Amino acid sequence: MGIVVAIDGPAAAGKGTLARRVAADLNLAYLDTGLLYRATGFAVVQAGGDLENEADALKAAQNLKADDLTNEKLRHDEAAQAASKVAVIQSVRDELLEFQRRFAKEPPQGKVGSVLDGRDIGTVVCPDADVKLFVTASTEVRAQRRLKELQERGLEAIYTQVLQDMKDRDARDSQRSSAPLKAADDAVILDTSDLGIEEVIAQAKSIISEKA
Ligand code: C5P
Repeated sequence: MGIVVAIDGPAAAGKGTLARRVAADLNLAYLDTGLLYRATGFAVVQAGGDLENEADALKAAQNLKADDLTNEKLRHDEAAQAASKVAVIQSVRDELLEFQRRFAKEPPQGKVGSVLDGRDIGTVVCPDADVKLFVTASTEVRAQRRLKELQERGLEAIYTQVLQDMKDRDARDSQRSSAPLKAADDAVILDTSDLGIEEVIAQAKSIISEKA
C-alpha cells in the first residue's frame, strides 16, 4: 500500500481543489468521497424516494455504479443537500465504506498512493493515513466561494440562500452521530480564509513531504 493522504473539512473550504492538485502533482489517485453521497442522495430523489428513509437510501447506495458518479447535476446544491441527508444514515455510510477503503489500499491505474477527500477520511475511513489535513475557512468565506462557483457555472444563486444552505449542511454534518465532521486528533489544520489556493497547495505539499 502506498502513501495515503486524507483531506477533510466543511463544504467549499477548498479541499477538492487542493486534493485534485496534490494528487496530480504527486502522481496519486484521487477519490472525491462526497460524490458517493451525492450520487446516493440524487438516486433517491430520482426514484421518488424519501431521503430520510433508511430503506430508500440504502437501496440507492447498494446500487451505485461508476457511471452514476459522472452526472453533472451532482455538482448542484440540491444534490449536496440530499447527500447530507442520506449521509446521516449509518447503514448508508457502512455500505460506502468498503469501496473507499479499497481505493485507499489499492489505488487504481498503478498509482503510488491515494488522496481521499471528505468529512471522515482521517477519523473513520483511513484512520492510519500517512498524512491528515483538515481544511477549513469561515462560513462567510465559504459561502462567497460557493456563490462565485455557482454563478460561474451560469446557475442562479443569491448569497443569503447559499449562506443559509451552507449553515444547514454544516450543522447536519457536524452534529450527526455517525462519523461527524471533525478534525482527527493528528490532523494538521489549514485555515484557507485568507490564503490563495496556490499558498494552500504549497503548504499542503510541504506537510506531505515532511510526514511521508
Ligand atoms: O464534499 P461534498 O460537499 O461533495 O459532500 C456532500 C455531502 O456528503 C456532505 O455535506 C456530507 O454530508 C456528505 N459526506 C460525508 N462524508 C464524506 C463525504 C461527504 O458525510 N466522506
